[in-house]
Amino acid sequence: MSNLGEQIKTMKKITTAIKKDFPIFKNNKGLVFLDSGASTQKPKVVIDAVKEVYEKHYANVHRGIYKLSEQSSELYEQTREKVAKFINASSEKQIIFTKNTTESINLLAFTWGMDNIKKGDIILVTEMEHHANLLPWRELAKRKKAIIKYVPVKKNGRLDLNKLDSLLSSKVKLLAIAHMSNVLGTINPVKKIIAKAHKKKIKVMVDGAQAVPHFPVDLQDLDADFYAFSPHKMLAPSGVGILYAKEEILESMNPFLVGGGMIANVTHQDAEWNEIPFKFEAGTPNIEGVIGFGAAIDYLSSVGMKNIFKHEQKITKIALRELSKVEGLKIMGPSDNKDRGAVFSFVLNGVHPHDMATMLDEQNIAIRAGHHCAQPLHQSLGIEATTRASFYLYNTEEDIYKLVRALKKVKKIFK
Ligand code: PMP
Repeated sequence: MSNLGEQIKTMKKITTAIKKDFPIFKNNKGLVFLDSGASTQKPKVVIDAVKEVYEKHYANVHRGIYKLSEQSSELYEQTREKVAKFINASSEKQIIFTKNTTESINLLAFTWGMDNIKKGDIILVTEMEHHANLLPWRELAKRKKAIIKYVPVKKNGRLDLNKLDSLLSSKVKLLAIAHMSNVLGTINPVKKIIAKAHKKKIKVMVDGAQAVPHFPVDLQDLDADFYAFSPHKMLAPSGVGILYAKEEILESMNPFLVGGGMIANVTHQDAEWNEIPFKFEAGTPNIEGVIGFGAAIDYLSSVGMKNIFKHEQKITKIALRELSKVEGLKIMGPSDNKDRGAVFSFVLNGVHPHDMATMLDEQNIAIRAGHHCAQPLHQSLGIEATTRASFYLYNTEEDIYKLVRALKKVKKIFK
């Protein structure tokens, strides 16, 4: 797999070669996996990295003063450096390991939020937020008597940016916004939005769970105050999450969980916290998961995030064209592939999404059905549930045609 980006010229060749790197496809012949938006499959290099930790280097991190513990601590910290480089953070101190995006955002709400949001303050969220970037803020607002306001989504699946502008008042203390919607596929112009928010001294929390896996993300360029994402959606083991925050804010924040590993000194009455980022990492972390994440970053970097995005743009173009040929099918997100990722939530007249999921599964196509943890968005769209097909670097053009053929078959059965 080494130097894949250099060795292989065309995207088609890349995808065919890439598929071979994922044992799941060898062990499940004919599988069309279209649920990477929930969690991705893992390449052999990641599986091997985890196996190698157990077989050669495993010990708890940052505790032992023996060789094995030093080795595992070094590998663990190497991933932190890789993450910082991958998202162009200015320092690895800004990278906190959590267990998923949900925990990252809860950490923020119950530390920075608890200390900075007051009665009557406004927290601005968008209508397209995943529950993970909505409920922690709603819960905080409830406890602090703060006010939640929503930036609406237009019929075309894009944020109403005029409305957003008019909502950015001096009473707003935080804007919580998805970089890319897990339902609509919409990629929000977060850089411009952050700049506008900063002019009003509003902090911005960006949910990058559907962004970092799919296109290059540069945190110094975006200038987000907070940014969260989930390695399990980018080829890494599950059980690891990332919270990025600006260094000066992290320095000022209280810890979320307290206990072992996050202290500098503890007496009978007092405790001093460790420096950042360790102050936010209490207890034994997911050592093998973090090290496996390092291998996933190496893999993604060797393919190239620009190449991955190019591939997904092509998939998006073809998928939008082919899905629109299925009679009675309505796609919920933007209908053009500009600023849009390869996630397609749709309804098909007369077929409940759960029946759809079952029937597609019978044809070896794995997709997701439901509200995708974005119930308020579905309510705004006037529907209860959708069927969602989400693509990644190992999906081919042929996967789209297989999906479309299967949808036509389902349509015939429900006629
Ligand atoms: N935000 C978005 C946009 C997501 O797609 C997801 C995962 N579906 C999450 C947050 C939550 O991620 P996790 O389950 O890893 O906490």
